[in-house]
Amino acid sequence: MNENIKNASSHQSEIVKTTTAGVEMGSAAVMPTYGRKNVSFASGKGIWLKDIQGNTYMDMVSGVAVNCLGHASPVITKALTQQAEQVIHVSNLYWNEPQKQLAEKLIALSDGVLQDVFFCNSGTEALEGALKLCKKYGKSKDKPYLVYMNNSFHGRTNGALSITGQEKYQTPFGKLLPDCLTVDFNDSEGLKDLFVKEGAQIAAVFAEPIQGEGGVIEMSPEYGKLLKNLCEENDALLVFDEVQCGAGRVGTYYAYQTLGVQPDIVCMAKGLGGGVPIGALLANGKASVFEKGDHGSTYGGNPLMCGVASAVTEVVSQEDFLKGVAEKSQQLTLGLQKLVDQGKIQGFRGQGLLLGMVVDEPSKWVDLAFEQKLLLISAGSDTIRLLPPLNITSEEIQSLLEKLENLFRVSQ
Ligand SMILES: *Cc1c(COP(=O)(O)O)cnc(C)c1O
Repeated sequence: MNENIKNASSHQSEIVKTTTAGVEMGSAAVMPTYGRKNVSFASGKGIWLKDIQGNTYMDMVSGVAVNCLGHASPVITKALTQQAEQVIHVSNLYWNEPQKQLAEKLIALSDGVLQDVFFCNSGTEALEGALKLCKKYGKSKDKPYLVYMNNSFHGRTNGALSITGQEKYQTPFGKLLPDCLTVDFNDSEGLKDLFVKEGAQIAAVFAEPIQGEGGVIEMSPEYGKLLKNLCEENDALLVFDEVQCGAGRVGTYYAYQTLGVQPDIVCMAKGLGGGVPIGALLANGKASVFEKGDHGSTYGGNPLMCGVASAVTEVVSQEDFLKGVAEKSQQLTLGLQKLVDQGKIQGFRGQGLLLGMVVDEPSKWVDLAFEQKLLLISAGSDTIRLLPPLNITSEEIQSLLEKLENLFRVSQ
C-alpha cells in the first residue's frame, strides 16, 4: 500500500471515536463550527428520527424549520425521484419547466405584492442577492445606507453578517460591509429618529417579521406599519427576511400576510424546499432592478430543487393545510399556557408553528430534552424554539406536550 494512503487511513481511524452514544467525529475531519450533539441520524419518518443505534427521537427542530412535511415525506420522495428520472440539472443559460412553475406559484401566492423571483441555494444567498439588489437600487439614487435590526439573524457570509445585529457573530471578523446602520427592533422612536437624520440616504431596511434565531420575537404590527410608511416616504426598499418564518410556518404562506405589511423584497429558504437546498429572492416591480449579468448562480433554480419545492409548495399553500397550521398552533399554545400556569416555563412567544418557550438557561433544557430523546433548539438568551413539521398531527402535539411536561417536571 502506498505510504501516504496508509497514513491517511490510520489517521482516519484515530479521529473517529466510537462512544456509547454513537460515532463522534474528531476535529480533523469537519471544521468545529457547530456544537454538535453526540448522535448520528440514519433515517426518519414524520416527526421521528432514528439514530445509527436504533434509538428513536421526537424531532421538534425539523432541520431548523426546514422539514415542513416531516422526514421521508412521500410528497418529497415522489417529486425527487420523478424529477431525477427526467433531468437533475441544466444551466440557467436555458429554461427549465420546474423553475418556471415554482416562480409562477410563488408570485401567485403573494397576492400581487411580488413580481419577480431569483432562485439560489440557501437563505444566506437570498440575503446576499437582496443586498446587491438594494445596493444597485441605492447607487442610482445616491443612497448608500442599509439599515438592519438589533438582534437579527440573516446569515454568515460577509454581506449577510454585516446586517446581522448580534455582536457574537460579527466581532470575530473585523471590518464588514460599510454603510450598514443598526436600529433597535420594535423601537418606533429610534426608527423615526434615524429616518429624520439619514432618511434621504437610506436605500433599504432589512427585518424579520419574526426574529427566529434572536429568540422568536414578533415585529409589532404598529412598528411594521411605521417601517413601511417611512420606507415609502423616503424611497427606501423594505426587505423582509422570511427564511425562517415564511413558507406557511405562521399559518399564511408569507409571514407578511399575517403581519399585514407589504414588503418590496422577500427572502425565502428553509421550508421552501422541505429539505432540498433552495432559496428564493422575490421582488416587486420597483425593487426588481437586476439586469442581464448582474447576478447568477450555477445551481440556483435547478430542475431537481424546483421540482421538489414546487411539490412542497403545492401542499403547504393549500388553504386547508394553512388552516391546519393555525389550528395546531392553537392546540400547542393552549398546552404551553398550561406550562406557564404551572410555573414550569415563564412564557411563550411566536405565531403558527414558530413558537418559543421562555426559560432560564435554554441550552441546559435542550441538553436534558436530548437525554429524553426529544430534539429542541434554543434561540436568543432565554428561549427554546419549537419548530415541528407543519403537518404534525394533533395526537403528536398531545404527545409533545406530555414530553414537555415530563421534561420540566423531572428536572425541577
Ligand atoms: C437560517 C436563516 C438564514 C440563513 O439561511 P441559510 O439557509 O442557513 O443560509 C437567514 N435568515 C434567517 C431569518 C434564518 O433563519
